Amino acid sequence: MRVIVSGAGLGGLVLAHALRDHAEVVVVDRDAHPGDTGGYRIALTPEAVAVVEQHVPARLVDRIRSVSDGPRTFSQFTIADSRLRPIVVAPEPPGQDRMLCQRRALRQILAEGLGDSIRFASTVTSAEAHAEGASVTLTDGTRIDGDLVVAADGARSATLRRLAPETSADTGLVGIAGSTPLGRAPRFPRYLDHGPALAVDRFGTGMFLSLTSRGLSSPPADLADAVGPPSLVWGLIARRDALPDVRDADPEELAATASVLVRRWHPWLQDAIAASAADRTAAFSFRAADPSEPRFPWSPCRITAIGDAVHAMPPTGGRAGSTAIRSAGALADALIAEADIDVAVARYQSRVNEWARPAILESLGPVRVITALRHPLAQLVAGPALGVAGAVGAALYRLRVRGTRDD
Ligand SMILES: Cc1cc2nc3c(=O)[nH]c(=O)nc-3n(C[C@H](O)[C@H](O)[C@H](O)COP(=O)(O)OP(=O)(O)OC[C@H]3O[C@@H](n4cnc5c(N)ncnc54)[C@H](O)[C@@H]3O)c2cc1C
Repeated sequence: MRVIVSGAGLGGLVLAHALRDHAEVVVVDRDAHPGDTGGYRIALTPEAVAVVEQHVPARLVDRIRSVSDGPRTFSQFTIADSRLRPIVVAPEPPGQDRMLCQRRALRQILAEGLGDSIRFASTVTSAEAHAEGASVTLTDGTRIDGDLVVAADGARSATLRRLAPETSADTGLVGIAGSTPLGRAPRFPRYLDHGPALAVDRFGTGMFLSLTSRGLSSPPADLADAVGPPSLVWGLIARRDALPDVRDADPEELAATASVLVRRWHPWLQDAIAASAADRTAAFSFRAADPSEPRFPWSPCRITAIGDAVHAMPPTGGRAGSTAIRSAGALADALIAEADIDVAVARYQSRVNEWARPAILESLGPVRVITALRHPLAQLVAGPALGVAGAVGAALYRLRVRGTRDD
């Protein structure tokens, strides 16, 4: 069996490892090198960690764990107001096996051990299914044939362009994210010590905050760049209509735009944004698949898909990477258990919504709140409600941590 995987992202690389003893695998990616594109911290759920443990060589799993933040850094999730007062502090279930690492480091490690199977600097322009297989065509005209093509090239997949051009839609939200080395950042709210937070104001502007790469005992030297220094990651989320067009903005302009949107927030945030590393500031548009539509809206053929290519979701649930990895594991399991490729693909495709649909729905929750707050009436109600919730939440939080080091 020859499997062509289009896209060496998280899903594509896990799939390639899973199939390495069962098929000839060719992975193509438009990047020249796995460390080329960045990202911030990815939190893998226990289900995704189980797939990685099952399918990725133990040596690489050890390397991933060596660059992963410990469980204490994600023992709770906080919802806060624009003055950064905690409204709700929700504990995470204890004892969960998570991997919490920089996307770039995770991708770099996953790309190891696949040898000549990966071809970087290879951009897919289209894919075509044939009676007994499928092929991809690259920008230079090269055609690569296989028994099966797997689209793992993210939302707006070029591989699926002919079969299903729109598997996801723009949510109307834009994100601007950045990373501030902790040495430069002002003293952060103590609840961030125990997990990420999402702060929101009455206009529906959100700010995701998380501390990363803290207290790693000895990250391997070759991954130091990808891991980066201990940092505060901030991610502004806003409706497109609340922002100027940032498509061509440079990092300084992006940071300035983010700063303007939170100018009435706690001043700490202005200082944190001002101190962020320019080379780590970027804008993202948020796309999402429709959870009620079929995941594979094309006649069964030798092209299938995993990850954002078929179940795109915004980062507001922190589930996209884990869901892509779960789909990679499920497709590999089906292909390993069943010799008939068409039967295996049909089995995989019939199951994907078991984990993809709940993840999309969860990720869309904050999007719906932010979108609803575009109405002036909703803002009028949200203002006082957030004020009271922030005051009560902060008082309760102080009571809870009194006598501990987290005051
Ligand atoms: C640069 C970047 C930064 C990100 N940062 C974060 C983050 O900080 N936090 C978070 O939760 N999620 C982040 N994400 C999204 C997250 O990685 C994905 O949502 C999730 O991993 C889904 O995985 P996937 O395998 O479907 O796609 P991805 O991991 O996005 O991988 C898709 C791959 O396909 C390749 N590709 C795309 N088009 C083509 C083409 N035409 N030909 C060949 N290759 C192609 C891309 O180079 C990429 O390597 C980021 C994604 C990217 C691309």
